[in-house]
Amino acid sequence: MTTSKLSEFDMRETMTGYLYNIHDIFRKLPSGARRKPIFAVETDSMLFSSWEIQSHVLAFPPNSRQRINRQLKKITGKQPAWFHRDSTWENPIETNDILDAISPTAIIPSKTDNDNWIKTGIPETNIVVYRLILPRNFDHYRLRRIILSQALLHEMAHVLSYPSAYIADYQLMQGSKSFKGKELLINFAKMAEKHPPISHYASLYRDVNGKFKVDDPKKIWTPICEELAETIVAYLLGFSYCGDRERNIDPFADRPEIEEWIKMFLNLKEVK
Ligand SMILES: [Zn+2]
Repeated sequence: MTTSKLSEFDMRETMTGYLYNIHDIFRKLPSGARRKPIFAVETDSMLFSSWEIQSHVLAFPPNSRQRINRQLKKITGKQPAWFHRDSTWENPIETNDILDAISPTAIIPSKTDNDNWIKTGIPETNIVVYRLILPRNFDHYRLRRIILSQALLHEMAHVLSYPSAYIADYQLMQGSKSFKGKELLINFAKMAEKHPPISHYASLYRDVNGKFKVDDPKKIWTPICEELAETIVAYLLGFSYCGDRERNIDPFADRPEIEEWIKMFLNLKEVK
């Protein structure tokens, strides 16, 4: 099935939503780190400085930071990219040519790169952050920072969650209690499915009945990890554009149990 509603690849609605509350949202962005990250950073200053990147790591609680620092090897900056108009939800296609894009606002702000992990079998994830080219009516310094911060935290949340999904027998613990990574994700998915998607982007991964889309059983973790990444960002920043006025700035208003779960998940320690 390739019945993508391509609008989820387009950030126009989300950016318009951010502009509506831009001053409040901007104040919530992570800042203030005085050290550089322990992973490699290869971006130019148009994107993020090393200190700004470390501020995003520090937005996570200490046990999460440890998990991120172990899995994340490098953040690289790249030239602008968009979703190609032939993209489908199960096969998003990247293009560097705006003329091939779904629209000028179907930007790709960032992605994770697991190529080395796939090649070597040794768990590691890299993050790519893209420079943004925005149409003139959206080209606003604060809006850029919001998009990039949201994107960077989203990818860091993936880095944090991928071991649970893709490492056999991966476990996390709280005190002396241990949890299987895959069971944690399934529990999250069951809770999340009782609610609408946390964000406009996350809705790409739900079917008409609100269930996570699983067309290929090998890709069962993709939609769950996307909802989880968006939910973690909503928790860390206190906003998430979903189109509902109240939930845009109070993302857990209808789902306090998920807020509690995210807090628990972020505070779990890795079993060494
Ligand atoms: Zn993602």
